[in-house]
Order: sequence, then structure tokens, then C-alpha cells
Amino acid sequence: MSTVIYPGPVFGPVRSRRLGKSLGVNLSPVDGKICSFDCIYCECGLNDERRPKSKMPSRQSVREALEARLSAMRDADDLPEAITYSGNGEPTSHPDFLNIVRDTLALRDKYCPQAKVCLLTNATHLNREDVFEAVRLIDRPCLKLDTVDADYIRLVDRPNARYDVKEVIERIKELNGRCIVQTMFMQGTFAGQSVDNTTEKYVGPWLEALAQIRPEGVDIYTLARETPVAGLKKAPAETLERIAQRVENLGISAHWYG
Ligand code: SF4
Repeated sequence: MSTVIYPGPVFGPVRSRRLGKSLGVNLSPVDGKICSFDCIYCECGLNDERRPKSKMPSRQSVREALEARLSAMRDADDLPEAITYSGNGEPTSHPDFLNIVRDTLALRDKYCPQAKVCLLTNATHLNREDVFEAVRLIDRPCLKLDTVDADYIRLVDRPNARYDVKEVIERIKELNGRCIVQTMFMQGTFAGQSVDNTTEKYVGPWLEALAQIRPEGVDIYTLARETPVAGLKKAPAETLERIAQRVENLGISAHWYG
């Protein structure tokens, strides 16, 4: 198993297929992972194997680390195209997420006003008013929706608290389309069960949800790295392309990454 834990509140920049040159902001502890999901494909590893001993970074330490890095990047004439909350787990789990977003937007405006502030989130905390407000401030919130099938979510995404996908979709709809939906498609097996969400059983209802959400775009991707469990397989490129075409047929922009 080869998974990644980011060793600071700011990392990169990384060359993102979706976002270009992206400076990462990690709001989880530096020695482990905190997430309200425990996806079997998580590049940070499984929650039980990545229990942190240290705390989440404070608002102040995030602001200071981000300013130091942006200042150095400006001096090197190497400013990012995006500043992205991702890292070791779910960024919106941080109790001060809204204020951190406000700080980030101010630093973005000061150092690189052309850069987009982005968020990779599993959307589980959208029911918190402060998180919802923060998501509305972010230029490019990318919300995970791997399926609308509750059994599949229990098998693959494995929420560790109450999670009702219908309620989450209703909340996403309140963003009035100001979001990107991101979906992981894969094949293979886990715990003796199929994890193939490329079949009509999963794709049809997922498309119906997208037709209701009407996001700005849909990012379709598959496994790109080693996974913490065995038995998972990449979805074939032609399958991803076909699913993306069906999204486009709804009048919604779709990108796929094989
Ligand atoms: S939501 Fe993201 S960070 Fe959390 S377990 Fe899933 S892949 Fe990992």
C-alpha cells in the first residue's frame, strides 16, 4: 500500500489535471487523517490506519503558512492558478473553516487575484450553516457524489456518521448550480461484493440527481493511484467517455479523467 499524508497545512503546488498549478491547503493534522467518510479508494489510506496524534492546524497557523508560501511564490514569479483545500481528509471538518476561507480569499486577492479558490469535499457537512456559507464563498466547490445508492455508499464511501444522500442532494440544490459534482467510477470487488458503479443501476439514478442539481460541471474520474484495499479496478476510458457524453446530453458540462 502506498498512500500519502501531507506534512503541513500548505503543500505543493501540485499540477492538477482539473485545476492547473494548484497550491494545496491541508486542514487536517499533519500526522494522520480526519474524514467523515472512509472511502476504500482514499489516497490518504483508511481512517483506522491513519489515526492522528496531533491536532488540526489553527486558523492563525494556516493563514501564516499560506501567506509565507504565497509571498515566496510571488518573489519567484511562480504564483498558483488555484488554491485548493484538500489534504489529509475532509477540509470542512475543521471547526473554523468559514474564517479560514475568509482569510484565504483575502490572501488570494492580495497575492494572486487571478487564482481560483477551490474545495474538494465529500459534502457531508453542508448541513452546517457556517460550512454552507463558506462553500458559497468559494470559487470552485467540488462536491463528491459517487452514486445515489445508499448500499453502495455504505460499502465504498463508508460514512462514519448519519448520512442521507437524498438530504445531501437537497442541500446541494440550494447552491443553485454553483458547484462542480465529482464522481469516482470504478470496477472490481471489495468484501466479496462488486463495487462497479458504471452499470445502469447506478448511472441512471445518478444522472437523474444531476438533472436536479444542474451543477456548473461534472468531473468524472477513476482510480489514479494505488488504493489502500485490494481488488479495485480502474473504469475503462471508453466507459468514462460514454458516461460523460450522457451528462453532456443533459446540457451539463462534463470532463473525464481516465
Ligand atoms: S472523502 Fe476524500 S478524504 Fe475522505 S475518505 Fe473519501 S477520498 Fe478520503
